[in-house]
Amino acid sequence: MKKYDLIVIGSGAGLNILNTGLQRGLKCALIENIKIGGTCLTRGCIPSKILIYPADIIREAKHAEKIGVNLELKDLNWKLISERMWSQINEEKEMQNGLSQIENLDLYMGTAEFTGNYEIQVKINDNNKIIGPFKGDKIVIASGARALIPPIKGIDEVDYITSDNFFGDKFPKKLWKSLIIIGGGIIAAEFAHTFSTYGTDVTIVEMLPRLVYTEEPEISEILEKEFRKHMKVYLNKKAISVKAKDKIKIIELEDINSGEITEISAEEILIATGRRSNADILKVERTGIETDSRGWIKTNEFLETNVNNIWCIGDANGLYQFRHKANAETQICRNNIFNHKKQAIDYTAVPWAIFTYPQIGHVGMTEKEAIDKGNKILVAKHKYSSVAKGFAMGYNEGDEDDGLVKLIIDQSYRILGAHVVGAHAAVLVQPFVYLMNSGYACPPPEDMIQKGDIIPKIARTCPEGGSFLPIYRSMIIHPSLNEVTGWAIGNLRPVNIEIKHEHDDKHQH
Ligand SMILES: Cc1cc2nc3c(=O)[nH]c(=O)nc-3n(C[C@H](O)[C@H](O)[C@H](O)COP(=O)(O)OP(=O)(O)OC[C@H]3O[C@@H](n4cnc5c(N)ncnc54)[C@H](O)[C@@H]3O)c2cc1C
Repeated sequence: MKKYDLIVIGSGAGLNILNTGLQRGLKCALIENIKIGGTCLTRGCIPSKILIYPADIIREAKHAEKIGVNLELKDLNWKLISERMWSQINEEKEMQNGLSQIENLDLYMGTAEFTGNYEIQVKINDNNKIIGPFKGDKIVIASGARALIPPIKGIDEVDYITSDNFFGDKFPKKLWKSLIIIGGGIIAAEFAHTFSTYGTDVTIVEMLPRLVYTEEPEISEILEKEFRKHMKVYLNKKAISVKAKDKIKIIELEDINSGEITEISAEEILIATGRRSNADILKVERTGIETDSRGWIKTNEFLETNVNNIWCIGDANGLYQFRHKANAETQICRNNIFNHKKQAIDYTAVPWAIFTYPQIGHVGMTEKEAIDKGNKILVAKHKYSSVAKGFAMGYNEGDEDDGLVKLIIDQSYRILGAHVVGAHAAVLVQPFVYLMNSGYACPPPEDMIQKGDIIPKIARTCPEGGSFLPIYRSMIIHPSLNEVTGWAIGNLRPVNIEIKHEHDDKHQH
């Protein structure tokens, strides 16, 4: 039986680990069943953002009317937008070509499945031939996830779009007239923003009470209000059946609370109700790997599976499905494969953005999560309209589209979470990620409280890493949107903490 030093399954973030193996001269195999580059490059982050950015500009141009600029959209060049998108997706061909020429690498373009302990066979895409089984000394599972299709009556009898086939053979040559999007999470919201802006009549259906449920309720509300201006938004509605009639797709919705049934219809349906594990296709149980109740591969903090010398990274472990998180895991995993001293992964400051209009940026805990986890917290909120740059950009007090910053801080001033909705939200959240990773080392707040300390004193004695104090002490470029996040700390209010003494933490603007 053929044997490899290292087998990597999945060519997204998995490529980072493969590269290290190749550089070390190991005999390696890479198995990929769709396109080299994985989801992010070929059907996720990158192509979606190429479609989203033109939509952002259109919305921004409309917003500019508030500041006295009236622009007219003459043309939306879908062909050019599509071509730019495909140019990026098609980079996979060059990547495949490059990989196939590497001497110590066997590249298998096909579907892997385990056949026994450390044994894998591959069904080759082009000819359905089975290659293997072969064995791996070390195996990295980086097999990602695929679109989850909920059980909707009739779904197998109609054609529908998912993000996977949208960036594939279902990519529309011309824009749809109308589109129903099932799901109200990140992917669904990004598609809804894009197509509603491009002129498609969009209906978004979510069974939960609000859109983007991972976010602060205030942020969901701001997004919902903006979305309602441009599309139909159905919340608390579950799609229960679907049928096609005369090129129109009809969906029956059931109201979660009242049970009432309504019908909606559109030219096309896009299902974006989450992602599911690929561990079933891989048949990981045949090598003894454990999965959780939802099928995600279980990993410990070293990204090891329960089977020695088999690691799992990225979407496949079901945690925070973002490419930057997968990349961070590859660094830890690479270390743990090739070095003696193991490193543990830390998920306390996993950031993300939702590229809707308005944009959303997120890192760390929401207010509810922080309280549920037993933290004593302070919360600060700040609106874009309250800083000079915000006003310059057309955000006035009381505006529905005013941007919002919300910070979650614990009683020793440690940053637990930062949330932004509005222009440049992803950029505004990033400094909080750096601060959260800058080595918080305070004694536990309980100890301080027992000694009768109050917040300002803790602030003086505590190392500043991980707290917001570096912002407090910093000059903020004036007038920039950074003031909206920086000055937010002047608005900190205790949520579930009894403050014993008044303290003067008011920031001088
Ligand atoms: C529409 C969309 C937009 C997104 N936007 C963003 C964004 O803006 N920012 C962000 O950070 N993240 C975004 N994501 C998520 C991001 O794409 C993923 O988190 C990331 O690609 C995960 O990387 P990975 O290496 O774990 O898996 P993948 O990149 O999915 O790579 C795994 C590869 O393994 C292959 N594979 C699976 N099973 C087998 C098998 N049995 N045999 C052979 N090959 C197999 C898969 O086909 C896949 O190509 C988006 C996702 C989608 C769907």
